[in-house]
Amino acid sequence: MTFPWHIEALNPPFEDPGFFLRHSYSGQALLFDLGDLHRLSAKQLLKVSHIFISHGHIDHLIGFDHLLRLTLNRSKHLHIYGPPGIIEMVGHKLKGYRWNLTAHYELLITAHEIYEKRIEQSAFACRRKFHPEPGTSQARKSATIFKTPTFNMSATTLDHGIDCLAFALKEPLQIKIRPEKLGRQGWSPGPWLSRLRQALQSKSPPDTAIEIAGCSYHLQDIADEIALIRPGRKIAYVTDIGFTPQNLKRLLPLIKDVDLLLCEAAFLESAADKALASRHLTAAQAGKLASLARAKHLRLFHFSPRHTEEKEEFYRQAGEHFTGPIS
Ligand SMILES: [Zn+2]
Ligand SMILES: [Zn+2]
Repeated sequence: MTFPWHIEALNPPFEDPGFFLRHSYSGQALLFDLGDLHRLSAKQLLKVSHIFISHGHIDHLIGFDHLLRLTLNRSKHLHIYGPPGIIEMVGHKLKGYRWNLTAHYELLITAHEIYEKRIEQSAFACRRKFHPEPGTSQARKSATIFKTPTFNMSATTLDHGIDCLAFALKEPLQIKIRPEKLGRQGWSPGPWLSRLRQALQSKSPPDTAIEIAGCSYHLQDIADEIALIRPGRKIAYVTDIGFTPQNLKRLLPLIKDVDLLLCEAAFLESAADKALASRHLTAAQAGKLASLARAKHLRLFHFSPRHTEEKEEFYRQAGEHFTGPIS
């Protein structure tokens, strides 16, 4: 089965960080961070509905105005997820302009502020001159911050001198029903197939009863007969963090067994002191992280311009600690 996500870096690795992701089947598109967006086409950006911001440094947020300009007169609802302070930052950006001619525009922006145990939200409607609506708060009971039938997004808060979020996108179980096996059992498709899928997705016990045409069967027996099941893919985005025991303790459960680790590698070993001082990763640490997480593939980005002449060295130094493919 092919990888169902098209993934594109916003910029070459020495420039502003971030990634554009589009799901091949649903068409849903999202962004990790809002670095300079000018390399993406308007067509790509107009597909974006959800944006996941790691932290408020300018190289991760400068693209906000570009996206705002492009979507302003569209009937769109943009969701921006970010660390504590993101509601205020979005509000201040919107306050930077005058909105007397746009009362009939339908753009709506909701900022979601991620805390350990809660998520706070505030909406900014263009038709209300982007004055923030009264905020709401909901309890956060797990690492999950957003869920669709296509994927589940989780996050954890790490230290970069300020709070910085790392994200992991996980698909649900991939369940394929084999029609030829259905026919062989004499079972006709029906609502029981949805119940079967739901029971498998929610990891119901193997002896859960599923009724087909008046007869009761065990979930596991039906699945063994007619379904092909494989784990959903996992993609993680990690940037601007120090390689500290505290960060690793929080991060590793989030990115464990990730299929694709999108990971910053700001510095080479020759500038390891700079990485430590600015709470960034070196290429070697990115390799170690991929190895500890048992990642299948590592993609590096966010290289410091001080190493412009040594691009290949990032991949070599990461490769000393990670044996899987690195791009
Ligand atoms: Zn930063
Ligand atoms: Zn940065």
